[in-house]
Amino acid sequence: MEKIILTGDRPTGKLHLGHYVGSIKKRLELQAENDFSKMYVMIADSQALTDNFDNPVKIRESIKEITLDYLACGIDPKKVTIFIQSMIPELTEYTFYYLNLVTLARLERNPTVKSELEQRNFNNTIPVGFLCYPVSQAADITLFRATDIPVGVDQLPMIEQTNEIVHKFNSLYGETLVPCKAILPDNETSFRLPGIDGKSKMSKSLGNCIYLSDDSKSVYEKVMKMYTDPDHININDPGKIEGNVVFTYLDVFANQSHFEKYLPDFKNLEELKLAYQKGGVGDVKIKKFLYNILEELLTPIRERRSKLEENIDSIYEVLKVGTRNAQIVAKKNLEEFKKAMQIDYFN
Ligand code: ATP
Ligand code: MG
Repeated sequence: MEKIILTGDRPTGKLHLGHYVGSIKKRLELQAENDFSKMYVMIADSQALTDNFDNPVKIRESIKEITLDYLACGIDPKKVTIFIQSMIPELTEYTFYYLNLVTLARLERNPTVKSELEQRNFNNTIPVGFLCYPVSQAADITLFRATDIPVGVDQLPMIEQTNEIVHKFNSLYGETLVPCKAILPDNETSFRLPGIDGKSKMSKSLGNCIYLSDDSKSVYEKVMKMYTDPDHININDPGKIEGNVVFTYLDVFANQSHFEKYLPDFKNLEELKLAYQKGGVGDVKIKKFLYNILEELLTPIRERRSKLEENIDSIYEVLKVGTRNAQIVAKKNLEEFKKAMQIDYFN
């Protein structure tokens, strides 16, 4: 079977470290492996509008910011088709038919949607569009016949929902759609990177993010503010690793060479953790270490980004070309879809 990769992000703000470890890193690895017939990255503006319909300017601005982030991270528009969701009306058409294949109860059971509803405090004013966004996500995936979806763990219920729709469609109208699978990050802590407050996942909507475009000073300040162990008051007190955000981040970002370069007193993370638990290692020391590691990752991204910012027209050109190419595929697949449903009346 053809390997077709598709992922996306909601343009609700700039990309942060959670996006990087949860999805972008995998996209870059897959792009480098070059073992796919097509790779798409979709900017999910229609989805973002489901809970930001009152702020289209934010979405508009974020489309540019996210594209800058992609290119700064190394997503290569020569290999990857980057496109804007709302500019492919075929997606809306798929969604409309899929709505018949899903029950309201099934949508309300989706654990990710459930927690997002709570977070947004909709109470009795849940927009129908918001509740249905997993259906439109199923359209995004299947319209491009995507098989591999590199995402964070919060997206697993969406993949499950998509495959249910695929199964239902195929059993009703004949084998037409292809099932897909999620590609999760290699490191389990990256499935759901916590925010700097340690309370929940890093998320644009929660204001607990380190953005890929943050300057060095902001990164330093955010790292210094990170939640550690509130009982670790004096350097010599024993410290806890569990729930200590600095160690969670070190688990994700630190490697051997970082110790040699920035913290040669310790051989590796195991040794550092033991010393911290025993007492004698201060929070500022581990935070400075983490800051150096993050700076090593973020500096080249930041530099590429500021170069790209000098030519915003070229950013929109990438989006135009990507959207045009994606629509050619979308049109063709929609025809087959309608034929399967026997709603291609003039043929
Ligand atoms: P919003 O708050 O608007 O929903 P978000 O920060 O949750 O924004 P999305 O655009 O919804 O970001 O997510 C895009 C991709 O990034 C998804 O694949 C998601 O799984 C992944 N992702 C987002 N946040 C994290 C995180 N903290 N850890 C790991 N992966 C994440
Ligand atoms: Mg989200």
